[in-house]
Amino acid sequence: MALSDLQIKGKRVLVRVDFNVPLDGNFEVQDDTRIRRALPTIKYLLDGGASVVLMSHLGRPKGVSPEFSLKHVVSKLEELLGKSVKFANDCVGDVALDITQRLKPGEVALLENLRFHPEEKEGDEFFAGQLAENGALYVNDAFGTAHRAHASTAIIARFFPVDKAFGLLLQGEIDALSKVMSDPASPLLAIIGGAKVSSKLAILENLVDKVDRLMIGGGMAYTFVLARGGNVGNSLVEEEMVSRALGILNKAEEKGVEVFLPLDSVVADSFSADANTQSCSTGEIPEGWMGLDIGPESAERFAEAVRTSKTILWNGPMGVFEFEKFSNGTFTVARALKEATDLGGYTLIGGGDSVAAINAAQLADKVSYVSTGGGAMLEYLEGKELPGISAMTE
Ligand code: AMP
Repeated sequence: MALSDLQIKGKRVLVRVDFNVPLDGNFEVQDDTRIRRALPTIKYLLDGGASVVLMSHLGRPKGVSPEFSLKHVVSKLEELLGKSVKFANDCVGDVALDITQRLKPGEVALLENLRFHPEEKEGDEFFAGQLAENGALYVNDAFGTAHRAHASTAIIARFFPVDKAFGLLLQGEIDALSKVMSDPASPLLAIIGGAKVSSKLAILENLVDKVDRLMIGGGMAYTFVLARGGNVGNSLVEEEMVSRALGILNKAEEKGVEVFLPLDSVVADSFSADANTQSCSTGEIPEGWMGLDIGPESAERFAEAVRTSKTILWNGPMGVFEFEKFSNGTFTVARALKEATDLGGYTLIGGGDSVAAINAAQLADKVSYVSTGGGAMLEYLEGKELPGISAMTE
């Protein structure tokens, strides 16, 4: 059900949000992006005359631990919402119900960290039922945990047979992903980079059936270059993944998918910001040198392919963009994504490091959609069903 189909006036709405924000040494919110992205749903509910009960996890606590308390986010939430927020020291039982059952329309409560109870991650049904007592309606707006079958993200949906809906953020994420995976304007280009070859091969194996163009950059690329028989020097490779990489390249050829691998690389004599560097052909990297960015020619070739594609998915940087010397490939691709968007293309960016890169390039508001979910997006792209999404439609 869509949020707009729920009768919310005068109701208590329990909302699973993703307030898993980074805190600094003084327990202040360091980056409030996730809180801000949840505001449209919260405001929609308040404006519609509902009261709002928010629940989330924060970090990976082992049992109750004050440093992971969600009370650390209350003042930031109050500041962003422009109203006071009641805080419940537990997410279930009388401590929670004393606050949530007395909420009046227009009021907001935040429950303590769900993961203070191990039952949350275990997907415990009794615990999910206790959580459910905090609301008359259930809204899931947490894309970041949609790939987990936890009590608050999936199991709880059973207690709201009809009175449940995706929040505006989660709905936006689903719409963005299905625009790319189910109904893309072609050519559809997927750009996959970063360092975790093994964890991204499953995505490439799924995408190769769907895309017109596949671009592989970052540390990922060297396993593919090795598979094609190139010399990659000391570049990052996962040798046990070479045969799967070859399988992807062969399948791409069979399917007529155009594959872009970096033809040149910026190589370094050590993994550091002030390493000595040179450009060379990606298949001829000297011993003792490692590829830390796609080379200038590849960056231009990649950018041109981005500009001439109509639907573009980007996950993973083209190089070690955290070091300025190796950031050109990533930022060139980021700028090309903006240009592709200006030309009417649909551009979706996801995964922590690509999001950090698009933010660093100050282009986050110049592309079509920036996803909030790293792991959830990766699993969706692998073709897996996400429990947090399927539980809502069962
Ligand atoms: P991932 O989490 O798989 O998206 O990987 C992101 C990380 O990959 C970033 O921190 C980059 O610095 C790193 N990375 C990108 N290109 C390379 C490369 N050529 N060699 C080693 N690490 C890289």
